[in-house]
Amino acid sequence: MRLSPSETQTLVQRTAREFAERVVRPLAADIDAKARIPDAVVRGLGELGLLAVNVSPDVGGAGAGAVAYALAVQEIARACASTAVTMSVTNMVGEAITHFGTPAQARHYVADLARGDAGLGCFALSEAGAGSDPGAMTTTARRDGSHGGDWVLDGAKQWISGGSAARVFIVWARTRPIEAASKGISCFLVDGNAAGLRVGRPEDKMGVRGSSTVPLEFSGCRVPASAMLGAENEGFKIAMMALDGGRIGISSQAIGIARAALEESVRYAKDRRTFGAPIAEHQAIKWKLADMQTRIEAAHLLSMRAAWMKETGRAFSREAAIAKLFASESAIAVCNDAVQIHGGYGYTRDFAAERHLRDARVTTIYEGTSEIQRLVIARSALA
Ligand SMILES: Cc1cc2nc3c(=O)[nH]c(=O)nc-3n(C[C@H](O)[C@H](O)[C@H](O)COP(=O)(O)OP(=O)(O)OC[C@H]3O[C@@H](n4cnc5c(N)ncnc54)[C@H](O)[C@@H]3O)c2cc1C
Repeated sequence: MRLSPSETQTLVQRTAREFAERVVRPLAADIDAKARIPDAVVRGLGELGLLAVNVSPDVGGAGAGAVAYALAVQEIARACASTAVTMSVTNMVGEAITHFGTPAQARHYVADLARGDAGLGCFALSEAGAGSDPGAMTTTARRDGSHGGDWVLDGAKQWISGGSAARVFIVWARTRPIEAASKGISCFLVDGNAAGLRVGRPEDKMGVRGSSTVPLEFSGCRVPASAMLGAENEGFKIAMMALDGGRIGISSQAIGIARAALEESVRYAKDRRTFGAPIAEHQAIKWKLADMQTRIEAAHLLSMRAAWMKETGRAFSREAAIAKLFASESAIAVCNDAVQIHGGYGYTRDFAAERHLRDARVTTIYEGTSEIQRLVIARSALA
């Protein structure tokens, strides 16, 4: 594995950093307060190729690879975690459609997602009763032979990121009876404005508030046979493979949030004085800063390893789980220390430390909880 980024990776990282500093960071507090990312931010990401970093240029992507993608998500998350998760999920959806879809599906959706001006890519796997265990999903898709093999979707999804501004949802639904569990699930591309699909009210969340998280209701939602992504009853594998890549995105998001928390803590510790000296002079604060830095750098290396393995065509499921587990748990610890270093001010909205802690909190939950990452890692250790 190369430890220094290539020219392309450096260029993507710099591009993302410049956009994050100039456009995203000044809006981050407002995005959190208003629970909305301005359309111009998403369009800006699209114009820079950041919504399809690891997607082939043939279908509108930047073709810069998985490592460049991970570096770019970190940079955006350093400025705004909500924008980073929006970017990450749209990249994940674009990659999945390119990888598993037909050329016609890729042409139809991916260029739109890459541009960022037609809506987001959304990943609709979870349900109210099926999060860690998506094989228990109850949303169904039944074939309607009288209409040229159309599929009709019924059921409900829960927690769908970006769902209020979706161009397309990848929707998983049961195409065999519940006893078939994960072997009876297929995957469909459903337009954001499809008839029979109702997008519910966004959840009022603790963090990543700018990224809408919505329930979906499918009631006789009809899609053509050509909307199936991949083969019938093979949808679960698509979900698991997409989530492996998604976990690299979430580890990068967690690292970016933690970097912001550390940088702000360093600034604050140099400035704030107690007992006649900057608090940075107190050993207890120095140790915190050292531990924060160490966690971030270790998480970065784990995340880069997973991204490099993906980029070079190696199996990376275990490495992505390790990176996601370590980076997300580290981000929470780092952000918690950042609030402590800021003292009482850290507990107010006047400083970003409290937002970072709220934003970091979800990274051990979505795209597989820490407990599920540990199951993946232990399974491989015991194999
Ligand atoms: C802000 C946000 C955005 C999200 N975005 C999306 C999205 O875009 N698309 C999507 O499909 N989903 C999304 N999700 C859903 C997310 O992936 C699920 O919340 C997550 O997988 C956990 O599922 P659950 O909430 O049903 O918890 P449960 O599965 O009910 O788990 C509850 C607790 O039990 C633990 N647990 C469960 N099973 C085991 C086990 N076998 N061993 C040990 N512990 C276990 C869990 O780790 C957790 O701590 C999002 C969630 C949030 C909060």
